[in-house]
Amino acid sequence: MYDTVIVGGGPAGLSAALMLGRCRRRVLLCDTGTPRNSRARALHGFLTRDGVPPLDLLAMGREELKQYGIESRRIAVTGIKPSSEAFEVQLADNSTVRTLTVLLASGICDDLPGIPGLADCFGTSVHHCPYCDGWEVRDRPLVVIGQRSKAAGLALALKTWTDSVVLCSHGPAGLRRAQREQLAAHGIEIDERVVASVDHADGRVRQLRFDDDASRHCDAIFIAGGQRQQSDLAGQIGCLPTRDGLVKTDHLGQTCVPGVYVVGDASRDVQFVVVAAAEGAKAAVGINKALQARAGLAVKKDG
Ligand SMILES: Cc1cc2nc3c(=O)[nH]c(=O)nc-3n(C[C@H](O)[C@H](O)[C@H](O)COP(=O)(O)OP(=O)(O)OC[C@H]3O[C@@H](n4cnc5c(N)ncnc54)[C@H](O)[C@@H]3O)c2cc1C
Repeated sequence: MYDTVIVGGGPAGLSAALMLGRCRRRVLLCDTGTPRNSRARALHGFLTRDGVPPLDLLAMGREELKQYGIESRRIAVTGIKPSSEAFEVQLADNSTVRTLTVLLASGICDDLPGIPGLADCFGTSVHHCPYCDGWEVRDRPLVVIGQRSKAAGLALALKTWTDSVVLCSHGPAGLRRAQREQLAAHGIEIDERVVASVDHADGRVRQLRFDDDASRHCDAIFIAGGQRQQSDLAGQIGCLPTRDGLVKTDHLGQTCVPGVYVVGDASRDVQFVVVAAAEGAKAAVGINKALQARAGLAVKKDG
């Protein structure tokens, strides 16, 4: 019987494993090795690790876990079932393990528009988050691809990093008149032509080509797109979703299913590596306290 099975070895899962290992908990960490930012060349905004390749950060994390006896496997978790005050966790090799608690740190995936050439640049010159990648393209000509208020919001936000922002909606922009006026007031052009392709050299965007064969130069593209859970385990086990398709939790990652915690991008908060790592650590404290209470180690209240 494990104390905790962690699903996902990104920053959230590794950080939880580190803290639970230090609490002398018996932990199994299962990971399929596809963290969300694996295509990015550098990780930004993590104090002391700014500019480090994302996969190097994870390798450092795995190295640190070794001294705490965490069992780590490169395998998918395919199912989780409650079973007499514990959980049965099914693995991709058809084996089953039992655990008192489950921590889902399985992350999310980004949906990219199906424009030829765009996916080749994702993580190099096609981004989704100005906090992660805005500094590197400050003062450069930028394009936002997307529709409706999400795209308008991203285009306006990018004005913090550069004067030159164009919103290419790749079809009808779906904006209200007030939003069009607001963009115009900030010098943001709206181009509603269909984008036929993204021309690039080795992942670096050179220009957008439209269906009328005209083109537009830019140095980077920001996508205002959708995202979805990388794994459906949270839904499978009955965790409630938020309106954005993330998982509802309390401040320590506890979901509405007792003993099941969700942290990192899959849960409700800001989607940064440093936040995912912090959420992992906080959930580890929540899990450790729950296990202490189960063992009678939580002090009784007066009266
Ligand atoms: C292109 C790009 C650039 C980014 N740049 C930055 C940046 O500069 N700074 C920053 O702070 N943030 C950045 N981010 C955001 C950052 O990637 C996420 O906030 C962070 O990775 C979230 O960590 P996580 O542990 O929640 O999930 P992830 O890192 O996505 O890890 C989830 C892990 O779970 C595993 N997994 C999923 N399902 C299963 C399963 N069923 N069984 C076993 N394992 C499973 C996956 O293989 C993966 O390893 C960027 C994101 C993208 C897309």
